[in-house]
Amino acid sequence: MITLKDVGVAFKGTQGTINAVEKVNLSIDKGDVYGIVGYSGAGKSTLVRTINLLQRPTKGSVWVNGQNMLALSPKELRNARKKVGMIFQHFNLMDSRTVAGNIAYPLRKSGLSKTAIKEKVVELLELVGLSDKYDAFPSQLSGGQKQRVAIARALANDPDVLLCDEATSALDPKTTLSILELLKELNKRLALTIVIITHEMQVVKEICNKVAVMENGHVVENGDVVSIFTQP
Ligand code: ADP
Ligand code: ADP
Repeated sequence: MITLKDVGVAFKGTQGTINAVEKVNLSIDKGDVYGIVGYSGAGKSTLVRTINLLQRPTKGSVWVNGQNMLALSPKELRNARKKVGMIFQHFNLMDSRTVAGNIAYPLRKSGLSKTAIKEKVVELLELVGLSDKYDAFPSQLSGGQKQRVAIARALANDPDVLLCDEATSALDPKTTLSILELLKELNKRLALTIVIITHEMQVVKEICNKVAVMENGHVVENGDVVSIFTQP
C-alpha cells in the first residue's frame, strides 16, 4: 500500500548539500506495523515525511494506495493526505481549543455538518478512551491523554495509514505501553497500517511486525522483526 522507490532527499544549505535520505526502497503492506529505527540524524523523520509529502523527495517516487503522490494535482494531494494521519512526539495540539475542537478541526476542513462532526468526535473519543474529556483543554491533560487526543484527531478522516514520529518518546514507560496497546488495538480493529519512527527497541519488539534500520540516510536492513532480531 506504500511503496518508496529510490527515494532521496537532499537539503541544500550554506555548508553544502546534506543527503538526509538516499536510494531508499521500501514496501509497506496493508495492516503492517512498520518500525523505522536508527540513531538521531539517520534520516528517519525525513523519510517518513515523504509518505505524505510533508517532505518532497528530491529523487525517486512515493506511491500510496496505487497513487503516485508526486503526480497529483493540489486537490488530489489534499484528498490523498486525508488518508494518511500523523502524530508527533510533542502532540502538536492547539492549546486554545478544547479536545473536541482539536479533533473537529480536520473534520471542519472536510466540510461535514455540525451534527455529523459532533457525532464523529464522540465516536473518536470513545475509540481512544477519553469520552469524559470532550470539553477539556489540552493543558488539563496528562501526556498520555494528549497523545490519545492527537491520535483521535489523526484518525478523524478515516485514514488507511497512521505515521507516528517518536510518538512515545515524551512519555514515561507505563504511558508508552498504554499508547502502544491503543495503537495495536487500532491496527487490529480498523486494519490501520502504522509506521512508527522510534529509537526505542522496546517499542519495536512490543508492536512492530516489520522493521527498517536506517544509517546515514540509507536503509541498511529491513524485514520481519523476528528474523532481524534473531540474526547471529
Ligand atoms: P532522524 O529522524 O533519524 O533523527 P532526520 O530525518 O531528522 O533524522 O535528519 C536527517 C538529516 O537531515 C540530519 O542531518 C538533519 O540535520 C538533516 N535535516 C533534516 N531536516 C532538515 C531541513 N529541513 N533542512 C536541512 N537539513 C535537515
Ligand atoms: P495517562 O493517564 O498517564 O495519560 P493513559 O494514556 O494510559 O495514561 O490514559 C489516558 C486515559 O485513557 C485515562 O483516562 C485512562 O483511563 C484511559 N484508558 C487507558 N487505556 C484505555 C483503554 N484500553 N481503553 C479505554 N480507555 C483507556
